[in-house]
Amino acid sequence: MMKINACIFCQVAAHEKPAKILYEDEHCVAFQDIHPKAPVHLLIIPRKHISSLNDNLDDDRALLGHLLAVVGLMAKEQGVDGTGYRTVINTNAEAGQTVFHLHIHLLGGRILHWPPG
Ligand code: AMP
Ligand code: ZN
Repeated sequence: MMKINACIFCQVAAHEKPAKILYEDEHCVAFQDIHPKAPVHLLIIPRKHISSLNDNLDDDRALLGHLLAVVGLMAKEQGVDGTGYRTVINTNAEAGQTVFHLHIHLLGGRILHWPPG
């Protein structure tokens, strides 16, 4: 599995950096965001290092679908599937991407306004 040693999310996936991991399988890991923006704020990441949606993802279509399936699973487990939740993928600086290892934010447990800031 491709791992970038200096990447904090590669380190989380490898259990080299502490995180509140709520789910993991051979392809992905779901853990609590360290600075939660909502009562429920999880990050779902592939174990494989992908920098962002700008990468060439032709070979990763099944993996991307798997990540979304795990989002749904986690939303149910966190009890926000009924009330509602938001999934966000920030890409590059102006969208607010700060960690360049692909991650899906799962936000819920409060009213989320639209449009986002
Ligand atoms: P983004 O701004 O979309 O790149 O999101 C990065 C997210 O990662 C932010 O919400 C941070 O709070 C979160 N984050 C950064 N470092 C860690 C960490 N070590 N453990 C958990 N979440 C983190
Ligand atoms: Zn990484």
